[in-house]
Amino acid sequence: MGKKKLKIVMLGEGRVGKTSLLHRFINNTFDEECPSTSKATMYANTKIEVNDTVADVSIWDTAGQERYHALGPIYYRDAHGAVLAYDITDKESFDKVKVWLKELHQVVGEGIQVVIVGNKIDLERERKVPKKDAEDFAAAHGAQHFFCSAKLGLKVSEAFTALVKRILETTPATTSAVEKSSMTGGAREIGSTHITARTKGVKITPLDESTPPPKKEECSC
Ligand code: GDP
Ligand code: MG
Repeated sequence: MGKKKLKIVMLGEGRVGKTSLLHRFINNTFDEECPSTSKATMYANTKIEVNDTVADVSIWDTAGQERYHALGPIYYRDAHGAVLAYDITDKESFDKVKVWLKELHQVVGEGIQVVIVGNKIDLERERKVPKKDAEDFAAAHGAQHFFCSAKLGLKVSEAFTALVKRILETTPATTSAVEKSSMTGGAREIGSTHITARTKGVKITPLDESTPPPKKEECSC
């Protein structure tokens, strides 16, 4: 069975739910008051098995620097994929997806795989971004699109696993060996996934079950 190390970055405007999506995926939790447990850039590890390949995936989340549009190169460095999120009730956050995508391509190159996530579908009645606009935009840029709710846990693991699957399908075997040290430098680990959900051909297992979940007392809200 083949092995790959992959890095995924969370991107999008502040408050769209990036941290909440990651916590839902990794810990299957949602904290309405305080989804962010640290001011540091964070990452989480997960192991995802797609067909005959095991991917050790590091998913990076911001420390809120996106509010000043100031994510450094270390954040993007070596990224194989990005989860580009917006809030379906906030048109501006969708408009910014276009800006983020452009920046991502400038820094990492056009080869990076992207999944666009319209988050907060539990607030469907307050939707400001037409579904078709979002889906057409994603299709025009070769990205998959998912409507999710970190709050209710809707389609969150589907979005992450679809991205990993796409990366594995498109990344040549020779570019797979990214050293873990270069992927995690300067960031803090928030935990490893405890999700054991299965979708067709995809298996997710914890990388390191001894990693404790994020500590509540680190909360900076
Ligand atoms: P980030 O700045 O993009 O990391 O966003 P956060 O994860 O910190 O979330 C910002 C706010 O949106 C918080 O108050 C969350 O509780 C809320 N939030 C995140 N995801 C959802 C969701 O799916 N539905 C709803 N209703 N609120 C959400
Ligand atoms: Mg955040």
